[in-house]
Amino acid sequence: MQIKRCPFCGGQARVIPEARLGHLGYTVYCEGCVAESGTYATKEKAMHSWNCRFMERPSSSDGTAWRMLSVNEVAGPAWLNCNVKTVYKLTKRADFPAIRVGEKVIRIPAGLLEEWILKQSQERLD
Ligand SMILES: [Zn+2]
Repeated sequence: MQIKRCPFCGGQARVIPEARLGHLGYTVYCEGCVAESGTYATKEKAMHSWNCRFMERPSSSDGTAWRMLSVNEVAGPAWLNCNVKTVYKLTKRADFPAIRVGEKVIRIPAGLLEEWILKQSQERLD
């Protein structure tokens, strides 16, 4: 089985034997970011779980895909690290995952923002 690249950052993934709770298992780690597969009894299971992430929305298994970020959070260092005004401009783009909650409040689902960033990073800069 071929191990796929990281669905979040495109980095190289590696299977690593790991002892957890007294049992030896295998975990797939990304060398580029903090993504990991969870620990499985066999290498094959760990790799399968990792490769299947490509079908899933990022973080959907742990419920964080729908964690809602504020415009300020998205502008902060953990995400786009840019001006708040820039984020407001982005929210007007059709492909940017922003929703309106009530009249003035804009929220950005973390999982969809991850996907959007991934997509942007694969496009060529003008
Ligand atoms: Zn990664």
